Amino acid sequence: MLIKHHQSYQYYVQKLESFFNLKPSPEQPLTWPWTNPDNIDFWIKRDDLIHPTVSGNKWRKLKFALQQIKNTDTRHVVSFGGGYSNHLHALAYCCKALNIQLHAIVRGDYSQQLTPMLRDLQQWGADVQFVNRQVYQQRNCDEYLARLRRENHNAVVIPEGGSQDLALEGVGEIIGELTQPYDYIITPVGSGGTLAGLALASQYCDTRIIGIATLKGKGYLEELVSGLVGQRASVQNWLIEHEYHFGGYAKKTDELSAIIDEFERMTSIAVEPVYSGKMIAAVKDLVDRHYFKPQSNVLLLHTGGLQGARS
Ligand SMILES: *Cc1c(COP(=O)(O)O)cnc(C)c1O
Repeated sequence: MLIKHHQSYQYYVQKLESFFNLKPSPEQPLTWPWTNPDNIDFWIKRDDLIHPTVSGNKWRKLKFALQQIKNTDTRHVVSFGGGYSNHLHALAYCCKALNIQLHAIVRGDYSQQLTPMLRDLQQWGADVQFVNRQVYQQRNCDEYLARLRRENHNAVVIPEGGSQDLALEGVGEIIGELTQPYDYIITPVGSGGTLAGLALASQYCDTRIIGIATLKGKGYLEELVSGLVGQRASVQNWLIEHEYHFGGYAKKTDELSAIIDEFERMTSIAVEPVYSGKMIAAVKDLVDRHYFKPQSNVLLLHTGGLQGARS
């Protein structure tokens, strides 16, 4: 019985590891669809193409956490997210492939109207618990997490967005895959893990990592990133621009929608309004403001997340 379990388990692990073999994700030249007065050389790293389901930075952030779980006896994971969470979506798919039971704590009650993301979770066998804001706020409290672990077979807890120390290493692999040096790398910022991982992995390069805040979080987001970078405090090659959240998390304006439509039409690259669309709109404005050194190399990280844009 044990051996059988072990075999099927290995099978699923191999299935997951075949995702790794799809890497590195394409690094493509990008013809900038708007005016480019300083002749910036734009490139885009297509992490949206890593895998049809587990795309983008969430797979990067989960990779080592899942490998660690796979080396323990635990077959239960608890994690957190909203009703459209790309993190829960990627995690649920991986858990199904790895034969791990996911307990998803979801902010808000969607039981009467499941989102496409939640329907996928259900289909992949996750057990979903809807909680109100007050309960959700405890998602980083030791006592609450200890209770969740107890109630769920000593589950491993993965924080919201997958952002934790183990995630930084996975994100950092992006830097190792690059085929040329860059003056700037641009990424959207939600919980800061992607920015922290990029900054850490390029601390000895001449690259500035620019995060675009996708929510109102001046000061707070910097604290999150500094917290993740932690003792490696000499990492100072990053900053966050806060002028491009378009009203807050998952909020959008007609201006943002127009920029996204135009970008998609001109480049044939799909972006979504929560993360990558805001990054594109930000870079459009930064180019107009002569933010980048003339003729510099700029890499945009396409973090994926297109599943969240389904309505
Ligand atoms: C979660 C997410 C981000 C934000 O990444 P963080 O590491 O949380 O800052 C960016 N883009 C997409 C598509 C995401 O799903």
